[in-house]
Amino acid sequence: MLRPFRLHEPTTVEEATSLLADLGDAARPYAGGTELLLVMKAGVLAYDHLVNVKTVAGLAGIELDAGVLRIGAAVTHRELESSAVLRERFALLASVERRVANVRVRNVGTLGGNLCFAEPHSDPGTALLLYDASVEVAGPSGRRTIAVEALASGPYETALADDELLTRIDVPELPAGMAGAYLKFGYHQRPTLGVGVAVRLSGGARPAIEDVRVALGSVSPRPLRLRDVEDRLRGCSTADAVALASGDAGDLAAAASEAVDDLHGSAEYKRHVTKVYLGRALEQAIEAALAAGPERGA
Ligand SMILES: Cc1cc2nc3c(=O)[nH]c(=O)nc-3n(C[C@H](O)[C@H](O)[C@H](O)COP(=O)(O)OP(=O)(O)OC[C@H]3O[C@@H](n4cnc5c(N)ncnc54)[C@H](O)[C@@H]3O)c2cc1C
Repeated sequence: MLRPFRLHEPTTVEEATSLLADLGDAARPYAGGTELLLVMKAGVLAYDHLVNVKTVAGLAGIELDAGVLRIGAAVTHRELESSAVLRERFALLASVERRVANVRVRNVGTLGGNLCFAEPHSDPGTALLLYDASVEVAGPSGRRTIAVEALASGPYETALADDELLTRIDVPELPAGMAGAYLKFGYHQRPTLGVGVAVRLSGGARPAIEDVRVALGSVSPRPLRLRDVEDRLRGCSTADAVALASGDAGDLAAAASEAVDDLHGSAEYKRHVTKVYLGRALEQAIEAALAAGPERGA
């Protein structure tokens, strides 16, 4: 049963953040409500005031600005999966957005809400690590930038202060020639595991991994970039890299996964699927990079 609350509809970021500052613990930002209203209905959280971010000017829209995709915090997953610029220039992110939840949730759920809820079993936060993405945050004392890698500090916890609003997600294009794959796996509505791999290959008959980015989510309390695994794979031939993913590099990923026991499975099980899915994601990323050719990444 949902307790009564007052819905505020500010039109500027300044108005929204001063409402949050003045109302303190009694208020929360509200976007699509697909998470917030569920926990409020279940009685897990109660707020007397909700501050609607969808009425705030400047938080809608997707723009490509000098190779950086600027996504307003109130943009829905559905808008992202349908965006021509995403499908053309950020194909990996578009493919992740298409697989978030179901169409009803994607129609109203926002990327900003997904990142701010910091539910460990989520996809976009993991995929955004492959792009070295960051977010812009506004508070009563101004605006600041936080790397997506530093945004989630634990389950349902972020680096945002209570009176701060996430205003924008900035996603730089992958370097030329880099392309990737994101695989998710799970038995429940939400993912048990998400692994993203992006690679740039050298030319020639026996291409090697010139550069690689690896991100892992859902198995641990927050999404992770696996830089030790990247170092292990960088410079290897594609054939050796695929073999390593089932060997040393896979073991390294499992060890670095920070896997925890939860309703989706034991930490041991999650370490096992991490290794399996790293290999599969790497193979698909290599195929994507070969298909994209040396100039164009996605
Ligand atoms: C059935 C179901 C299946 C799902 N499956 C998946 C899945 O497979 N993968 C996946 O990644 N996700 C999944 N989700 C999560 C879904 O993506 C999120 O519910 C959605 O993106 C949250 O956005 P929202 O706009 O509804 O957030 P809200 O519910 O409005 O808000 C969520 C939280 O973020 C805060 N917040 C919102 N906007 C801002 C802002 N701009 N600044 C500061 N704080 C803000 C709110 O205060 C609240 O704490 C699933 C959800 C459901 C219900």
